[in-house]
Amino acid sequence: MTNTDTADIASTAEQVRLLAQAGSELVRVTVNTPEAARAVARIVEKLDAGGLQVPIVGDFHYNGHLLLTRYPECAQALSKYRINPGNVGMGRHHDKNFRQMIEVALQFAKPVRIGVNWGSLDQALLNRMMDENARRDEPLTARQVLIETILESALQSADLAQEYGLPADRIIISAKVSEVPDLVEVYRKLASRCDYALHLGLTEAGMGSRGIVFSTAGLSVLLQEGIGDTIRVSLTPKPGGDRSLEVQVAQQVLQALGIRRFVPQVTACPGCGRTTSTFFQELADQVQQDLTRRMADWKETHPGVAELKVAVMGCVVNGPGESKHADIGISLPGTGESPKVPVYVDGRHFKTLKGPRIAEDFMEILEEYVENRFGSRQQEPVLH
Ligand code: SF4
Repeated sequence: MTNTDTADIASTAEQVRLLAQAGSELVRVTVNTPEAARAVARIVEKLDAGGLQVPIVGDFHYNGHLLLTRYPECAQALSKYRINPGNVGMGRHHDKNFRQMIEVALQFAKPVRIGVNWGSLDQALLNRMMDENARRDEPLTARQVLIETILESALQSADLAQEYGLPADRIIISAKVSEVPDLVEVYRKLASRCDYALHLGLTEAGMGSRGIVFSTAGLSVLLQEGIGDTIRVSLTPKPGGDRSLEVQVAQQVLQALGIRRFVPQVTACPGCGRTTSTFFQELADQVQQDLTRRMADWKETHPGVAELKVAVMGCVVNGPGESKHADIGISLPGTGESPKVPVYVDGRHFKTLKGPRIAEDFMEILEEYVENRFGSRQQEPVLH
């Protein structure tokens, strides 16, 4: 999701481009004002003109019914509308406003994500469910009532959308919470109670490693159980920080679970007392960075290259073994070991490198391998 002012067409289009370039397959933008709504079609035109076809999702709260009806170019240009049922109006306005947005979705044949967030849960529904719970013989805990309200809000809204004519296969549900155990429980229950497509994400995951670890923990459990159709990792960037980190984390979660492959996998040992020089870390870093940079072109010209497995290992203890499991691996000498560097290709010893050009020589072998296996010079794989 972008964090630019959507009314700023140039900045928003540029951030969408950067997110898409990082691998985002769907980018959400805030649509909160008439200026933002007017900008949406221009942003999409600008992206189209640059040859970028990434779908743009509009995020609506409070005034979505007004913006979507008053700015039909916005409604047309968006690929999906995210509607938060907790923020569509109070009392009798709630259903009327919600219906208005669903009717726009029908008019423009768009899907809708019903995005419940526990930070903006429908308070009238929560109060009603709390009251009902208080009258039970065996009341649920406050946490259980909260979870049931989240589920009820999402499923009731989805049913209402269907009642207004939106087909079930154009409804996506999300129910985001900020604690991992709650997230797992909410989505397991959602998956068991409905067949709608589910969008996963831990909301307000936080900054840095905290946000990455918490998001990964929640998403991994659910994805491993086959729950989830789209995902988002919500990270708070540092001021001016790289927004695309959340895309990289999402890709790595999918790659780690074996669900999708995006970049060649570099296996590197953590290093220990046997690696007292920094050469091994530098080489692992260089290989990862080179592969990531080259993927921008290779994606088009070298189909299947994301399947590549490379190992960069620090010493003889696990180095040769791990290198043989990879497509191409290098086992660097640990402290006190002979300064010879065996390289393994397709599980076999290929060459021993030495001297000051080890990094460059290894990168050349790697490039050659990629060209032969995935490029225009493709050869039959070597069978052992
Ligand atoms: S492979 Fe060698 S350097 Fe790497 S962690 Fe294991 S023992 Fe340490």
